[in-house]
Amino acid sequence: MYPELKLFIAGEWRTTGRDMPVVNPATEQELGRLPYAEKSDLDDALDAAEKGFRIWSATSPRERGDTILRAAALMRERQEEIAQSITLEHGKPLAQARLEVIRGAEFFEWDAGEAMRTYGRIIPAARGHKFSVHHQPIGVVAAFSPWNFPMSQPARKIAGALASGCSIILKAAEETPAGAVHIARAFEDAGLPAGVLNLVFGDPAEISSHLIPQDPVRLVAFTGSTPVGRHLTTLASENMTSVLMELGGHAPVIVCEDTDVTAAATSGAIRKMRNAGQVCTSPTRFFVNEGIFEQFTDTFVARAAQTVVGNGMEAGVEMGPLANDRRVPALTALVEDARAKGATVATGGARLGNSGYFFEPTVLVNVPDDARIMQEEPFGPVAVINPVTSLDDAITRANSVPYGLAGYAFTNRADYIDRLIDEVEVGNLSINTLEASMPETPFGGVKSSGYGREGGSEGLDNYMIVKNVWHSSK
Ligand code: NAD
Repeated sequence: MYPELKLFIAGEWRTTGRDMPVVNPATEQELGRLPYAEKSDLDDALDAAEKGFRIWSATSPRERGDTILRAAALMRERQEEIAQSITLEHGKPLAQARLEVIRGAEFFEWDAGEAMRTYGRIIPAARGHKFSVHHQPIGVVAAFSPWNFPMSQPARKIAGALASGCSIILKAAEETPAGAVHIARAFEDAGLPAGVLNLVFGDPAEISSHLIPQDPVRLVAFTGSTPVGRHLTTLASENMTSVLMELGGHAPVIVCEDTDVTAAATSGAIRKMRNAGQVCTSPTRFFVNEGIFEQFTDTFVARAAQTVVGNGMEAGVEMGPLANDRRVPALTALVEDARAKGATVATGGARLGNSGYFFEPTVLVNVPDDARIMQEEPFGPVAVINPVTSLDDAITRANSVPYGLAGYAFTNRADYIDRLIDEVEVGNLSINTLEASMPETPFGGVKSSGYGREGGSEGLDNYMIVKNVWHSSK
């Protein structure tokens, strides 16, 4: 069920002289060997992408869209095979992996349509002059996708690039390469010209430092942590290369006194544990009005403690392991720091079992502001619940981190909703729901959560340049 892992360069699959194991995080068993790119492979990918750009940027948006839709249809057909690979390499429950495949296909389908709507405009001018504004593909894209959504993260980047008429070299995550391999296979079978999509794996620092400063690369698109995003932005700035940065988040959830407490607490606990909390929009810092704090906390903790944790291949499992071994000590340290500073560990707090990277669903209550977790994104199944005295108090606390990706609130009061819309510093605000993004909505952050948007009618902007034309007939 797990695919053979290779690099895809200039329309050919290749191995290299170096490889590394890919491990199932639920069993710690090896699933396959992943070839690591050498500099010569990266130079081949650059050469292929330059040639691919010439072909693809001259292909009509409709034709580009048709190819993308054919590939997306193949991904839908192959849903089960792709989902099983995702669960094996990432650990998430199979039902969630199946949904991820569909979400990935939807990203392609949305951007395929957007390809035909990259309109320019005419600006009124004096007789004998014409001003027109054109949107044109930016060039070769160097993209880096993380391991938390092995299929839908690469899909976002590839969809934006290909719909815009760019070629792309994607370095997908070494821990979870199969999602991207399946996407490349689908595009190969859909007839994408060679060199338009190139897929590499290897040492992340080696690849980014080699690719980013190269002339043909005109956009660096990255999803991952803020420190790495900052580093890649610095590398890109040497060549004045554009960047699209989708970085970390530390989502606040403001729970007001007028809400349905049981529904908000139950959905919060379920949502927090989705993907083992390894989601940049994961709801993490719950700020609950003091009048409903106890009821909310009791309900939340009880539901979190009931989460069925196990191998994502098994029926009924709600939460799998963490995706890699690094996350276990990282989460343990955050919990221990909060405990030492006076927080109550209401449930969980430790590694689960001795085999696989399982971590208990964890809820920390009354966490002091100086605990590390109040500023650092846990990126795991750990929630913080703190009481607040008012909406003012909640908004101040929500905004008290360097991040600004997703934010949530539960209330039906119109005056509260107006204030939340105006004052919460995030790129995505969701009210009475813990959903944060759809293919048709723009997704991205403010502050240290990055810049640029993926999805929505804004999603192709970063992949295109704006060219103004002044045509004078005099
Ligand atoms: P990390 O900071 O080491 O790596 C984050 C991502 O960046 C990984 O995919 C990694 O392969 C890549 N990366 C690291 N160094 C790189 C380099 N020099 N050049 C190019 N790519 C590089 O952290 P990690 O342990 O893999 O993940 C944990 C942290 O990453 C979390 O705390 C979270 O903030 C962040 N993260 C965010 C997302 C997201 O969706 N925004 C996804 C995954 C990880």
